[in-house]
Amino acid sequence: MIIIDGAQGEGGGQILRSALALSLVTQMPFRLENIRAGRRKPGLLRQHLTAVEAATRVGAAKTTGAELGSMTLEFHPNGVTPGDYRFAVGTAGSATLVFQTILPPLLIAQAPSSLVLEGGTHNPFAPPFEFLARSFTPLIERMGPRIELKLYQPGFFPAGRGRFAARIEPVRQLKCMDLLERGLVRQQRARVLSAMLPPSIGERELAVVQTRLGWGKECCLAESPVNPAGPGNALLLEIEADHVTGVFSSFGERSRSAEDVATQACQDASVWLDAGVPVDEHLADQLMIPMALSGGECSYRTVEPSLHSRTNAEIIQRFLPVRFRFEQESDHAWRVTVGVK
Ligand code: AMP
Repeated sequence: MIIIDGAQGEGGGQILRSALALSLVTQMPFRLENIRAGRRKPGLLRQHLTAVEAATRVGAAKTTGAELGSMTLEFHPNGVTPGDYRFAVGTAGSATLVFQTILPPLLIAQAPSSLVLEGGTHNPFAPPFEFLARSFTPLIERMGPRIELKLYQPGFFPAGRGRFAARIEPVRQLKCMDLLERGLVRQQRARVLSAMLPPSIGERELAVVQTRLGWGKECCLAESPVNPAGPGNALLLEIEADHVTGVFSSFGERSRSAEDVATQACQDASVWLDAGVPVDEHLADQLMIPMALSGGECSYRTVEPSLHSRTNAEIIQRFLPVRFRFEQESDHAWRVTVGVK
C-alpha cells in the first residue's frame, strides 16, 4: 500500500486526483493522509468527493474515508471498467477536474467510454472547458487516443450546473510526445462568456484585451449562454500556434472589476508569449501523467515549473518507475523530461 502525505508540496486537490488516476492505472492501492492540509478549508470538499466517487465507480474500488471533510482516504481499485458514466458535482465545484481524474485510466482502457460531467465548467483555479477542448486534449490525441468534448451548458460559481460530455477512444499504449517548440502564432481569439450580467462587463474586458495585447476587434467576441443556471463571467484568450494552442482565462466575481479580470488573463498570456515556450504553467502539470504513462522519454519546454508540477512529479514517481528532470535553460525557459528510471 502506498502511503501519501497530502500536506506535501502544494498540498492541494491535485495530490488526491493524481493518486486516484495513478492507482487506477497501476491497480496499486493507496492511503492519503492530511488531505488538502495546505488549503484554507482542508479535507475532501464536494468536488473532491465527486472525483473519488468517479474513480470508485470506474475502478470498482473499495474506499474508506470517502466523506465530506475527511482528511484520510484509502482506495483499493479492482480493475478499470470503461463505459457510459454520468458524474455530477452537485455544487459549482470543478467538473473538469473530475474529468481529469478518470481520464488517464480511460485513455488506455479496453474499450471506449462516454462521460457526462456536471458542475462548474468555468471556475477559478481549475481548467475551464476551453482549456481542455483546445489546449489539453489535442495534445493528448497526438499520443494516440481520440477525445471528443462537447459543452452543453457552462457552469459558474456559485450556481454551478454546467454540463459537458466526453467520448474517449483509448489506445493500448500512449505514444511518447516531445513538445519543444511553439512555432508561429497563427490565430488568436478573445471570447467573453457572460450569463445574466450587463453586456458592458464583456465590452470592458474586451477593450482591455485590445489595448494590452493589441488584438483587433475582429478577434473579440462576447457570447451569452441560453438558459444559464446563474450569473457568471469568463474571459478566454485562445492563442493558436503551429504546435500548441494556449488558453488563458480569468473569471468575474463580485467586487472584482472587469478591467482587473481582463488584465490578469492578458498578463498570463503575455508571460507565455514572451517566454517563447510551447507549454504554459497549467498545461505543464497536466501533461505529466500522460507523458509518464507513455513509457518512453518525453520532454517539453515550459515556463518556471510551479509547485503543482514539482509535487505532481513526486506523486507520479511513487506509482510509476519513472524520473522527472527539471532543467533551467534560460531566464524564462525550463525543460521538463520524464523517462524510465
Ligand atoms: P489544485 O489547486 O491542487 O486543486 O489543482 C488545480 C489544477 O487546475 C492544476 O492542475 C492546475 O494546473 C489547474 N488550473 C488552475 N488554474 C488553471 C487555469 N487557469 N487554466 C488551466 N488549468 C488551470
